Amino acid sequence: MIFETISNSGHEQIVFCQSRDAGLKAIIAIHNTVLGPALGGLRMWPYKNEAEALNDVLRLSRGMTFKNAVAGLNLGGGKAVIIGDPAKDKSEALFRAFGRFVNSLNGRYITAEDVGIDVNDMEYVFRETEFVTGVHQVHGGSGDPSPFTAYGTLQGLMAALSYKFGNEDVGKYTYAVQGAGHVGTEFIKLLREQNAKVFVTDINKESVQRCVDELGCEAVGPEEIYDVNADVYSPCALGGTVNEQTLPRLKCKIICGAANNQLATDEIGDEVEKRGILYAPDYAVNAGGVMNVSLEIDGYNRERAMRMMRTIYYNVGRIFQIAERDGIPTYKAADRMAEERINAIGKIKLPTMGNDGPRFLGRMRGQ
Ligand code: NAD
Repeated sequence: MIFETISNSGHEQIVFCQSRDAGLKAIIAIHNTVLGPALGGLRMWPYKNEAEALNDVLRLSRGMTFKNAVAGLNLGGGKAVIIGDPAKDKSEALFRAFGRFVNSLNGRYITAEDVGIDVNDMEYVFRETEFVTGVHQVHGGSGDPSPFTAYGTLQGLMAALSYKFGNEDVGKYTYAVQGAGHVGTEFIKLLREQNAKVFVTDINKESVQRCVDELGCEAVGPEEIYDVNADVYSPCALGGTVNEQTLPRLKCKIICGAANNQLATDEIGDEVEKRGILYAPDYAVNAGGVMNVSLEIDGYNRERAMRMMRTIYYNVGRIFQIAERDGIPTYKAADRMAEERINAIGKIKLPTMGNDGPRFLGRMRGQ
């Protein structure tokens, strides 16, 4: 049953990890290591059952393969989940036990933060393994990825403006930004630096007010954001906000934002295309976070990170070209770009087997 599932999804390896003493039940899924070691975050969630946890880790790890490939990283896709409640079940022993399992893979999988995990948890993982990113800056970590993600999103936006309107004059257009959280606020700052007109919403009224008072945005209600007359709709909150109910209301010409999984379904992606709206694929646009942590692998450097974010402009532009070349919607073209890169590099390389993994030269362990 499990072999059938993972063979259908193309996974290389699934590792079930348990430590009764530490209360650890975790699954590490390595989807594809053709491009390099599998990098992807660790999620802690109170899954209802094991099947739900397995489905989640399989889906997320596969997504990381595509994301890392399109980002141009020499990294494959993986992900890990711990079954547990982040509010109640965290302990030093739990994360150190997890770290030991990660270490046992000898670099085939590199972990990072995801939902339910913070930098302090990573500190415990780091005591047991070097194959971890997103550690505190005092250990050579990269810190909060949000400003990088926002800057990367701006690069994706400029590629979309250029393709749709033939210019990259960010300030000339109007924006409906959904979500004024970590990334959303940084993104709005970048838009406002160029004097763009920005409508903003958030379920957190204080965040919206801050954007009005400090950044000069216009506030709209959480439900009204879909009706705003703006050139660009920028989802920076939750996934699935482009759906059957919202799409007919959208007046934008471009969808470009940082949120993950913006399209509720593939059919919606097809419909976006039919309506002549240019969709800048989410995982290509929001790759700034993963690019940033990836640089920890051989010694983090902020300047390199900013240079790397710029590549998002070219990646998104390439996706639009593939969509045009093959007559397919952009969300499909992103997957195709990933597959083409994996195939091309796969022909010149064998899968990574651990001992040819990363070296983490830039970090001092356990300090
Ligand atoms: P965040 O939690 O700081 O911000 C999300 C904001 O959305 C919050 O202010 C929240 O109140 C708001 N929100 C939630 N539901 C809403 C709704 N229905 N309508 C309006 N606002 C709503 O998260 P973040 O780190 O800014 O990430 C935002 C999105 O970008 C997420 O989808 C995340 O997965 C994705 N992303 C983030 C990064 C990163 O570097 N932080 C990287 C890649 C992708």
